[in-house]
Amino acid sequence: MNGDEDDIGGVHIKYLLHCHRQLWLYSRGYRPESRNEDVAFGESVNDTTYRRHHEVDLGAAKIDWVTVGAIVHETKSSRRPSPQHDAQALHYCLLLARRSITVRGAHVHYPLIRRTTKLAWDTAARRSAEATEEHARRVIAAATPAARLPRSSCRGCSYLDYCWGES
Ligand code: SF4
Repeated sequence: MNGDEDDIGGVHIKYLLHCHRQLWLYSRGYRPESRNEDVAFGESVNDTTYRRHHEVDLGAAKIDWVTVGAIVHETKSSRRPSPQHDAQALHYCLLLARRSITVRGAHVHYPLIRRTTKLAWDTAARRSAEATEEHARRVIAAATPAARLPRSSCRGCSYLDYCWGES
C-alpha cells in the first residue's frame, strides 16, 4: 500500500464538500477546531451514545467503529443527514478496501433523530469515493486558497475569525 494514500482523512472530505477554502487551510495545519462549540458538541454525542465501541485509527482517518462484514459505522451529532456524511463514510470504506479488507457498506448513525443511513459499498460507490478523494487532492494542491463562501454559508465554521475577522 502506498503511504500517500492515507493522507486524506474524513475531515478533509467533510471540508471538501462544505468549503474548498476550509479544506485548503486545514491541509496546511491551521486547525482551530478545539474552539468550535459544534465540534465539541459532536464529540460529546459520540462519547456518550456509543460508548461501548472502539474507534479504528487509520492515521489521518478515524472510524467510529467497524463491525464484521465489514460495515463502517459513523456517528453524527447533526439532526440532518447530508451528502457530506455519506462521502465521509464511503471514504472510510475506501481506506479499508485498500487494506484488502472486504467491505460491505457503511452505516451513518444519527442518534439525536434515531435514524441510520445505510450505504452499499459497490463499484459505483468506490468510483465515487475515489473521485471525491482526487478532488480533495486537487483543492489541497492549489497554490492559493479558494475564495471565501458567502458569509451566510460560514455559520459555525472554525475558520470564521481567519476569514472574516477584519470585516
Ligand atoms: S469561514 Fe467561510 S469561507 Fe472561511 S473557511 Fe469557513 S466556510 Fe470557508
